[in-house]
Amino acid sequence: MGRLAIVTGGTRGIGREISVTLKKAGYKVVANYGGNDEAAAKFTAETGIPSMKWDVGSYPACEAAMSKIVAEHGPVEIIVNNAGITRDATLHRMSYQMWEEVIHTNLTSCFNMARLAIDSMRERGFGRIVNIGSINGQAGQYGQVNYAAAKSGIHGFTKALAQEGAAKNITVNAIAPGYVDTDMVRAVPPAVLEKIIAKIPVGRLGRAEDIARCVMFLIADEADFITGSTLSVNGGQHMY
Ligand code: NDP
Repeated sequence: MGRLAIVTGGTRGIGREISVTLKKAGYKVVANYGGNDEAAAKFTAETGIPSMKWDVGSYPACEAAMSKIVAEHGPVEIIVNNAGITRDATLHRMSYQMWEEVIHTNLTSCFNMARLAIDSMRERGFGRIVNIGSINGQAGQYGQVNYAAAKSGIHGFTKALAQEGAAKNITVNAIAPGYVDTDMVRAVPPAVLEKIIAKIPVGRLGRAEDIARCVMFLIADEADFITGSTLSVNGGQHMY
């Protein structure tokens, strides 16, 4: 125990719950965030987990952050690629910038973080990478070509990297949450949300804890036979 985990977007929403759950279980955690200093400061004060700001969509920013983390805390053995954003619009109203921001933040970030950790994981013969995808990457979603493409890309990235990491005890898995009660979903108009909940057989939105406990399961030392999988956590809304 005591392995070092980086949780991107780890100060709010699902990421916050992942950070706290891992810390409670004895992992060392560094929680990344994108810009909300106030939320991050509150998170660190409440949890004692260090938070660090950098843009996960930028390779140089990830590189600088990783070097600092390794120098201060030691080798990174676990990465939870959780940071994500939405910039919703139908394609005919979507700007190139909305496309690019979502692809960089949600998908290129997975490359950036994994690329920067992989050499050390290979040398140590241990690594756990969990990428947070989405039901909307599996099923598509009106108004989200950018988000659905990025999340779908995560699922392919996961399966390819899992094949590369397997011989070195580096597992790579994805979790595809359904609709989870966080700021991201609170931004959905209430009338739309009501229709979404009506389609969830379990009859409720997901909770951040539902996702955090899956991360815990996948990063365990004992989970070394689980790789390249996507765990759907959606209350039965989409059975993939
Ligand atoms: P929130 O909006 O609640 O939190 C997002 C987190 O990501 C924040 O900590 C935010 O930092 C961070 N972040 C955003 N952009 C960047 C960036 N460029 N660099 C670093 N950090 C960044 O999101 P959720 O908790 O709802 O979602 C977490 C993940 O789960 C996302 O990948 C999302 O796509 C996925 N997901 C969520 C679902 C849901 O229903 N909520 C459903 C399916 C998937 P800051 O606080 O600084 O803004």
